Amino acid sequence: MQNLLLTPGPTMVPEEVLKELSVQPIHHRTKQFENILVSMDDKLKKIFGTHNMIMAFPSSGTGMMEAAVANLFNQNDKVLAVSIGVFGDRFKEIAENYKIPTDIIRFKWGRQADPIAVIEELKKKKYAGVLITHNETSTGVLNDIEKLAKAIRECSRDILIVVDAVSSLGGVEMQMDEWDLDVVITASQKALMTPPGLAFASVSGRAWEKIKNNDNIRYYWSFEKARDSFPQTPYTPPVSLIMAQNKALDIIMREGLENVYIKHKKIKSAVKKAVENLGFEIFADDACASDLITAVKVPDGFDTAQFIKNVEKFGVILSGGQKVLKGKIFRISHMGYINKDFLLRGMDAIEQALIVMGYAFEKGAGIKAIQDNL
Ligand code: PMP
Repeated sequence: MQNLLLTPGPTMVPEEVLKELSVQPIHHRTKQFENILVSMDDKLKKIFGTHNMIMAFPSSGTGMMEAAVANLFNQNDKVLAVSIGVFGDRFKEIAENYKIPTDIIRFKWGRQADPIAVIEELKKKKYAGVLITHNETSTGVLNDIEKLAKAIRECSRDILIVVDAVSSLGGVEMQMDEWDLDVVITASQKALMTPPGLAFASVSGRAWEKIKNNDNIRYYWSFEKARDSFPQTPYTPPVSLIMAQNKALDIIMREGLENVYIKHKKIKSAVKKAVENLGFEIFADDACASDLITAVKVPDGFDTAQFIKNVEKFGVILSGGQKVLKGKIFRISHMGYINKDFLLRGMDAIEQALIVMGYAFEKGAGIKAIQDNL
């Protein structure tokens, strides 16, 4: 049997989507491909909550973070990175690499960004943009982007709000237009149920104005070229992945976005109960724990690396902690193509691995929580 991925990308891919990957590629300069791009754009607009077009690039999420920075800003701008973990820090590193004067406001890992503190920071200088993570995958925290954006807008109408929704889009609500966001980016391999390799971005009218006047270097990654080519792409696109992504979006639409979000919420509480039944604590604050990934604190002396290896022996892949959280947490991802059967299999592997390690817990208590709550 193949390993079950309970990782924050790649995630499992539905059969219907896998089938789409096994057909001959179609040519990208055909009406047939245009129709697929338009259809994908239609569905993604609903998930992004926007009327703006969605650009697709062959890339992972980081590539699209970089593209956003390169298209929007230059060395005469100042940006503020709002960081609650590894991916917030990454946004700062990318901007700094482009020699864009970058400040960072960091919040305690496991907590959300505090809008009041962000406003205080924004008042200190004239910033052109603010870079924020929606779902901080490294800590299992979901930021309240609506609240943050509202606070930021009270401070400035024209600051560009750039949101990394790489690990959230398709799993939790996003309302790009209503929340007045400027650039939202995501990638195929997480809640969007498609293999890695495709990244997406949507850009507001305000941000297009800024892009028009920005002379920072970009060629392949030019958002304007991508926009102006639509419903074609400027260069050869990953046609097979786009066909697969379009199919995965059909599945999401069939299920209904609301239902997909409710499903993720239910799964999050079932997983929380399961790990607590095993005697663990959740790393994130209860009020902001992500619906899509659970970071689990381990007790002192617990060998997390060995635990993850043991879980793999039972056919399930989990993730460890990153940076300062290495060895201190493990993470169970539950986004995208996820269901009760997968979680039962995952919990069984976790319990088996704990038995191997001689960890004391009530056997079957994790599995029971999944059984009873889903
Ligand atoms: N941002 C977030 C919130 C992520 O979770 C990830 C991937 N874990 C990335 C950015 C980077 O994406 P990628 O690995 O696809 O480059």
